Amino acid sequence: MSYRTLLLIVLLLPAALLGGAKALGLVIPVPIWGREYVLHFPFADEAAAPLELPGVEGPEDPTRPLVVIDAGHGGRDPGAVGTDADGRRFEEKAITLAIALALRDELLKQGGVRVALTRADDRIVPLPHRPEIARLLEADLFISIHADSAGDQNDTVSGASIYTLSNEASSEAAARFAARENDADRLNGITIAGASKNVSAILVELSQQRTQEDALAFAGLVLREGESALAFVPQPRRSAALAVLRAPDVPSVLFESGFVTNQTDRAQLTTPEGRARYAGVLARAIRVYFARRAETPGDGE
Ligand SMILES: [Zn+2]
Repeated sequence: MSYRTLLLIVLLLPAALLGGAKALGLVIPVPIWGREYVLHFPFADEAAAPLELPGVEGPEDPTRPLVVIDAGHGGRDPGAVGTDADGRRFEEKAITLAIALALRDELLKQGGVRVALTRADDRIVPLPHRPEIARLLEADLFISIHADSAGDQNDTVSGASIYTLSNEASSEAAARFAARENDADRLNGITIAGASKNVSAILVELSQQRTQEDALAFAGLVLREGESALAFVPQPRRSAALAVLRAPDVPSVLFESGFVTNQTDRAQLTTPEGRARYAGVLARAIRVYFARRAETPGDGE
């Protein structure tokens, strides 16, 4: 065997093995910041789960803007997990739910905005159902709330960030993040591809352009309103090919509230005071966003 042939085999072997595993239906996620190396198998029962539309809270007036708040993960999918010095376990799914509920309460208290939650308790909601709920309710804004992990051995990474959809993940960090968050989709045994198959490609593209501009504008408002109240990562504005942001007609952002693996972030994420701060910032950004939209009529809505 020539050196060149050997080199070719060595280079192609990992890809061939990965392809073989894929063909067998196994999903091998890339370990991220020391995350455990796990095989995920789809759960057939969840793949067939019917989409449940949540109730809409707030003003009865259907012309009022509607925000769909999505608490990431849930049920048997805990999301990111952190452990403190005393061995206490912090699961992302509980943190995201608590922030989502706090944001709902804040919005209802302020009034003028209708609110729906993709989940209001600890249950699994298949990933494609989340943006689909926003679409079916004809929401004006979709906010998916998450918390991040930097791995068990790393407590130095902290801060919030906000993601919008990109076809091409804009940075390596974003690409890794997309791979990880999209794993929840495989966990539920549902492929991303079917999410918007009933919408024609052209409409999707046109709609998505406008939707993307609105999502970016909202992300900018979150950073502006959060500047003095929240700690952000150095480059908090990110984009990634996230399945949960794929509604073509609802401006969607994914808010990474902080790191469950960082002590300072945990103190914010797991206390009522900290949650109120996140909810306050997001609620202010929402109010400004809708106020601006109301000022620019005749946009084809
Ligand atoms: Zn998450």
